[in-house]
Parts: sequence; C-alpha cells; structure tokens
Amino acid sequence: MSHSPLPVIRCQVLVVGSGAAGLTAAIAAARNGADTLLVENAGFLGGISTTLPWLGFHDRDFRLVVKGLPLEFCQRLQRLGAASDFEFDPKCASAISIESHWWKILAMQLVREAGVKLLLHTQVVATLREGDRIRGVEVENKSGRQRIEAEVTIDGTGDGDVAARGGVAWAKGRTGDGLVQSPTLVFRLGGVDRAAFIAGCKDPANRYREWLTPYPDLWDKMMRRIDRMHVIVCGGYAALVERAREAGDFNVPQTRIVGVKHHVADQFTVVMTRVLGLDPTNIHSLTDAYTRVYEQIPVLVRFFRSYVPGFARAQLLEIAPMLGVRESRRIMGDYVLTAEDLMAGRVFDDAVGMGGYHIDIHRPAGTWVDSHNVKAYTIPARSLIARDVDGLLMAGKCLSATHEAVASTRVIPICMAQGQAVGTLAALAVKRGLAVRGVPIAALQDTLAGQGAEIGRTVGEPNRQAIDEVGQLPFNEPPTTGDQDTVSASETAWVR
Ligand SMILES: Cc1cc2nc3c(=O)[nH]c(=O)nc-3n(C[C@H](O)[C@H](O)[C@H](O)COP(=O)(O)OP(=O)(O)OC[C@H]3O[C@@H](n4cnc5c(N)ncnc54)[C@H](O)[C@@H]3O)c2cc1C
Repeated sequence: MSHSPLPVIRCQVLVVGSGAAGLTAAIAAARNGADTLLVENAGFLGGISTTLPWLGFHDRDFRLVVKGLPLEFCQRLQRLGAASDFEFDPKCASAISIESHWWKILAMQLVREAGVKLLLHTQVVATLREGDRIRGVEVENKSGRQRIEAEVTIDGTGDGDVAARGGVAWAKGRTGDGLVQSPTLVFRLGGVDRAAFIAGCKDPANRYREWLTPYPDLWDKMMRRIDRMHVIVCGGYAALVERAREAGDFNVPQTRIVGVKHHVADQFTVVMTRVLGLDPTNIHSLTDAYTRVYEQIPVLVRFFRSYVPGFARAQLLEIAPMLGVRESRRIMGDYVLTAEDLMAGRVFDDAVGMGGYHIDIHRPAGTWVDSHNVKAYTIPARSLIARDVDGLLMAGKCLSATHEAVASTRVIPICMAQGQAVGTLAALAVKRGLAVRGVPIAALQDTLAGQGAEIGRTVGEPNRQAIDEVGQLPFNEPPTTGDQDTVSASETAWVR
C-alpha cells in the first residue's frame, strides 16, 4: 500500500477548540486581520459555554472586570432576547443566563462575520513540531487526515491536546495525587413553577444559598430582591438532599442542590451529576464518567420532582452535549499564575486580561466545594505563551496556572478574555512578522484596550450602590464543610 503525502491546509493563525476561549481567540485574530482557521471536534461552536449561565464578569466589588468581546457577545444575545441582564450575587458577583441554542447560532454568525475559516467534526491527532517551533497540527475527519500549517497555533482544547502532542510541558490536577476537579454533565429542566421555587428559597430551613447562612444581613438583602431576580444561583438545600439519601432516593456523590434558575421563567439548569476521581485524558475513565452521569440524571429528575419546591411538573428539556470537565491539563507557560496572585489582586506589567471570580474547587474526590475569595486580578501575557517553544499560545482551562488559580480563571467570561488576548497577540505577531514573544507588550495592551478589553485601565471604584443593595461576604470566609476525600474502590472512576 502506498502512502501519499497528506493534503496541506495553510493559515496564519490556527485555533484548536471552539469553547469560550478558542472561539473568542479566533474572532479576535480574524478581526485583527489574520487569516484564521478554527478547528473543532464537535458539530457546534461554544463548547461547554453553550449550556451554562456566564459567571464572573464582575469582581466582589461588583465592578465590571471583563469587557471587550465577551461583553459584546452578551449584548448581542440580549438584543436577540436570548440573555438576561446581569444579576448580582454575593458569592459569584454576577450571573447572566443565556439561551443555549441562540448562543450556538450567534457563535456561528460571529465566526462567519469575522471571516474565520472553519473545520468542524475535526480532531487534532498530532502536533507539528520542528525543533522548538510548533508549526501546526495534523487532524483527522471525514475526509481522512490533513496537515494544517500555521504561523501561530492556539491551544483552546481545554485539555492541552496540542501542547501534549507537541511535547510541551503540562501539569494536571492538584499537588499530591494529581486528581482534577470533579466533572458534571449539566442538564436543563422546564416546567418549573417559579413562584413555588422562590417560596422554597425563602424558607430559611432550606438554606438555598448556603454561603449566606452565617450573615443575616446578606440573607435579608437577598430576600428583599429575590422576587424580582431574573437569575437565581442556588447552592444549598443540604438537609433536603440528605433526607432523600436516607429515603433511598438519592445516590449521587453530591450533597447540595447546585443549579441556576434561568431568566426563562420555567427553566432551571441542574449542575449536580458528579463523578469522583476522573482522569479527563484517559478515554476509559472519561467513558466510565459518561456512563455514570447518564445513570444519575433520572435519579436527579425524580429527586427534583418529589422533593424540591416548584419542580413537581418539571420536564427534562436538554442534556448538555458534552461532559463538563472543570479541569484538565494545564499547559506550562512563561509564568504560572497562582492563587496568591489572585488573592492579592496582582497587577502584572504584561496584563492582557482581568478576572475577579472566586477560587471555586469542586472537590476532586469529595463532595461540595473549596472556595476562596479573590481581589480583581490581572492575567499576564506570559501565562498564555507556552514555555520552551515558539509559536504556541493557550487560553481557557489550559492556561498556565496552578490547580487553585485555574479554579477562578476557568469561568466563561475570563476564558473569553484570555481568548481575546491570545487571538490579538497572534494576529499582531503574524502581521508584524514577529515571534509571539517579540510583539511589544505595549502594542498588544493598547490594541486590546482600544478594542474594549479590560486590562486594568478602566475598572474604576467599587460599585457602592451594588455593595449596599447586595452586600459583600467577608474576604476570608470560614472553610466549607463536608467530606474532603471519599474516593473509595466503588466510587473511583480511574481506570488503570
Ligand atoms: C459542570 C461545569 C459547570 C460550570 N459552570 C459554570 C458557570 O455556571 N458559569 C461559568 O461562567 N463557568 C462555568 N464553568 C466553567 C466554564 O464553563 C468552562 O471552564 C469554560 O467554558 C471552558 O472553556 P474552554 O474554552 O477552555 O474549554 P471548552 O468549553 O471545554 O472547549 C474546548 C473545545 O475544544 C474542543 N476540543 C477538545 N479537544 C479537541 C481536539 N483534540 N481537537 C479538536 N477540538 C477539540 C472541544 O470539543 C470543545 O469545544 C463550568 C464548568 C463545568 C465543567
């Protein structure tokens, strides 16, 4: 059998993965004049961002710290009638709920408007590396295998697939055992009785927003707003879950109701399936996780109908098209962002984006979460440039950060802000004929700021009105309760 050379596709900027990060990167690169190709394994754009509310546009002072393209996406969705206004929340700062199908439609439209070329249902299977230079990737799809040659490649796979296949350094999971945050297959319920649901939230015994329980003033403020809130973030109801477990009606490794009441009056997004001990880069572990979460969904639907106020007539509307993997490979870059940077609200000289979402770790091997509040922080360009090689950038879940830091930077708007930064950096590099490290940082920062991105120049003062109305949790909250490590032989998803 003879082997003919692979067909070659050429572009200036190649983006792999069209989640919040990759999609935004591709649009930014193309808008800044680069011939851009976006490669995506699925048959739609947006990755996991399509099925969730977007959290983390604001910091704990309720200041908008993510602007630029992510904010433009919100505004376009709002004009379509497919997104709520921002709703402030003492723990998450803000939430905006979106209609998943309209976001998929808009994402496709944005890509086409920007002139991004697209290859869907196409998976990266190898990375082209010459010495220390990443030259593109090999992909596999219905047409067979192709070579894609690019001047700059952006890894937006969430798993660092391009980096890993190119021999670039990466890390995975927490220090010690390497376990990553537990994953969740998200699903959406319809037929929710909004008034009955809110009545349930108002019952203090349910502790629907558990973070507020120790702070009666914050609880009172929430109760004054809740009837008119469009988006209601829910993390509590522990006693109800326990009651169902004792009755034999609940066997999911989850101890709280976690989810979001949509701006669409009768809809609720459930974020409660859970697998302990996933290895997201091991196909056996991943497949095992899918089988488990699909078993959990009927249990959870029955639980909602039988136990949770407002859900007696709830219907299963949508199951997310992909398992929500909160954490996977983190590509090592020129700088590794740390939890300390976030908690100190560090301002880097090479800031190209901002974030303010709290550190939110869904325990890898236990129930509930570990959490720490942060100050509005910047993201340095160096955390988006892969170490020891030329021509490879990354954004989103796989940026260069520690297990703890990525637990904040991973939320959708902050992934998008990183995407805008790397897409713009890649375009400037190819237009000027420079390596990505050769692009003057001031030129990148001025371009980003000129295109509306927040890099720390226009954040302004704390939003006093919102602080008065919503209240603030203390910066140092007491540690969360619950078991830390319950991976047992029967619960472990690792398949060795
Ligand atoms: C269960 C869950 C709940 C969450 N809740 C919220 C929330 O309420 N609000 C919020 O703001 N954030 C939330 N997050 C965080 C946030 O949704 C994600 O971290 C973020 O969307 C990640 O974006 P990304 O672009 O890095 O990755 P992804 O969305 O994972 O996108 C990666 C894309 O790359 C593609 N891809 C992967 N490998 C390849 C390959 N080899 N070749 C080609 N394509 C490939 C994938 O198909 C996918 O489209 C949640 C996360 C999870 C998992």
